[in-house]
Amino acid sequence: MATLEIECPVCAELLELSDQDRAELQAGDVIVCDSCNAEMEITRNGGGEDFELELLGILTTCPNCGEEFEVTEELLATAPTVESSDGHEVSLVTCPHCNAGIELEFEDDSEPGALSSQ
Ligand SMILES: [Zn+2]
Ligand SMILES: [Zn+2]
Repeated sequence: MATLEIECPVCAELLELSDQDRAELQAGDVIVCDSCNAEMEITRNGGGEDFELELLGILTTCPNCGEEFEVTEELLATAPTVESSDGHEVSLVTCPHCNAGIELEFEDDSEPGALSSQ
């Protein structure tokens, strides 16, 4: 059975959709990345490689108040990036419920073996 592999636009995790999965999906449906909870809307689902997604947002749970909120691409684009205590670059977003600043980190260059032993 043919399986379509989609790279998550947020964390680059490969999401696999079988023919059966795709038969049940249609434009307008939303799929969620297992790895980072990003929500993606299907904008095209023809056949073969005819498949397109649009990133909607990432569902995040606020560590401060425990409420869930959605981090959209737009929000990330305007979020300032800061350096976390361990030297990683993180995006600083604000919880819409309690206004706490939350650091979001996306591992987009975590190649296997890239962890250098210094
Ligand atoms: Zn993801
Ligand atoms: Zn909050």
